[in-house]
Amino acid sequence: MTTKIKVGILGATGTVGQRFVQLLDKHPWFEVTALAASERSAGKTYNEAVHWKLDTPIPERVRDMPVLDAEPGFETRIAFSGLDAKVAGTIEERFAKAGYAVISNSKNHRMDDDVPILLPEINPEHLGLIEVQRQSREYDKGFIVTNSNCSAMTLCLALAPIDHGFGLESVVVTTLQAISGAGYPGVASLDILGNVIPYIGEEEEKIERETKKILGRFKNGKVEMHAVKVSATTTRVPVVDGHTESVSVKLRKQASLDELKSAFRNYTSLPQRLRLPSAPEHPVVLREEIDRPQPRFDVNLEKGMATVVGRVRPCSILDYKFVILGHNTIRGAAGAAILNAELIKAQGFFD
Ligand code: NAP
Repeated sequence: MTTKIKVGILGATGTVGQRFVQLLDKHPWFEVTALAASERSAGKTYNEAVHWKLDTPIPERVRDMPVLDAEPGFETRIAFSGLDAKVAGTIEERFAKAGYAVISNSKNHRMDDDVPILLPEINPEHLGLIEVQRQSREYDKGFIVTNSNCSAMTLCLALAPIDHGFGLESVVVTTLQAISGAGYPGVASLDILGNVIPYIGEEEEKIERETKKILGRFKNGKVEMHAVKVSATTTRVPVVDGHTESVSVKLRKQASLDELKSAFRNYTSLPQRLRLPSAPEHPVVLREEIDRPQPRFDVNLEKGMATVVGRVRPCSILDYKFVILGHNTIRGAAGAAILNAELIKAQGFFD
């Protein structure tokens, strides 16, 4: 039996941190041996510190584990980060400098030239930036790899098969985002119940710029941004989990409706070939029913690791339009980071 890699979770008490705890319980390759959060939580047991909001119990292994300060010092190879973006930037740098593989959910380093926004189905070659980063920042064993904004993640998984098959010229997207995307306690109930909030700070810019980087090509030690034009509108809706997005696309090459649907249906990539433990069998799930996808029924398809696509139809202004759905704290956050770590391990970076 091989020894599991020890991992720590920074921001372990938060919305994303709890998903890490849940998804890493009994993981075949990784074992949680350290939990860290703010000074409000440090010194308490995990059970005392966390406002547990998931529908499975706190795993027995971590219930009584002490919550540590988010400072290097614990013996793990990987530091998964679900830290509040207000503090993530500097804390993650400290961990990378101290030799940890930092696998982050936060926005702080995503657009740094030497940091990948890794999406294993789409851009595994962006891991070439790890070597660039080690040289530019004089890191030894450590590095920072990020995953994207949750809405950008759901969107890019749907765009990748289209880009691959026909080329992408422009994308117009409007999101309907779940409240768990705002962390805990997040949006006040008086603001969101029976309501739609047509603004989420910085979210539109993140989708527009991160999509271009994720779909970009790694060449000569750099990521060349994809030329696709992206226009995003983001809204918050009273749904607990699952971001829905209405998308219209203009293609570079003509495609029939059937060809487009086949591209979604048949999309598969490196994580599926490598059989990574968290990889969905189908990263894109196509629903043909007229009224799907719906968050209540479809958000957990493929254990929350897929983008669910439906209502694929012609668009009278661009070429095609469709509706997509993704689980914002699983494929949009903790699940994505764990899949990233699995790919990094499979590519030999922890040897
Ligand atoms: P959250 O629920 O507010 O959790 C934030 C975590 O950061 C908590 O564990 C908190 O610990 C910790 N923290 C706050 N200040 C700290 C400090 N000074 N030192 C150390 N730890 C500190 O937020 P979240 O929704 O989980 O989001 C976490 C990160 O992931 C954010 O950067 C967010 O943008 C990103 N993200 C979130 C989602 C989502 O769907 N929620 C999706 C993708 C990316 P205490 O409990 O001790 O305060």
